[in-house]
Amino acid sequence: MIFVDASGGIERDRTLAEEVMWFCIETLMPRMKTLMVECELTKIEDGVLGYAWSVEDNRDCMIQIDSRLSRDVSRDKFIETVCHEMVHVWQIATNRTKETYRDGHKQLWKCKDGKYRNYGKTAYERQPWETEAYALEGRLAELFKEYEKNC
Ligand SMILES: [Zn+2]
Repeated sequence: MIFVDASGGIERDRTLAEEVMWFCIETLMPRMKTLMVECELTKIEDGVLGYAWSVEDNRDCMIQIDSRLSRDVSRDKFIETVCHEMVHVWQIATNRTKETYRDGHKQLWKCKDGKYRNYGKTAYERQPWETEAYALEGRLAELFKEYEKNC
């Protein structure tokens, strides 16, 4: 079962967040059968727009989006940020990113050769999951807006 839910913020943002989440799941992982994603709209510390992490396991994810985004920046930026965090959900759900705490905290990324490597100490902008999320967020947001127009 696929389950998405948004809480916090204003009603209009919650509805939009859920629509974007569904769209990203259908676009990025059309064959996914089991996934739970909860989105919390809340005030996040300055400079951070959103977060994504796994709760119980890789099919149970939580994302956070700054609740001021749609008002203070734009609706487009809000959509783009939900898309960005949903790329992280996709990476988690398909085990392309993993976190382990054995022998200290490690943030692993499945490389092209299928092996996991630790990028926990890599600078934020060079982390492979961020590079991918930034590369895809704009395109996903554009696709979502086209899809919205045709509904
Ligand atoms: Zn990110």
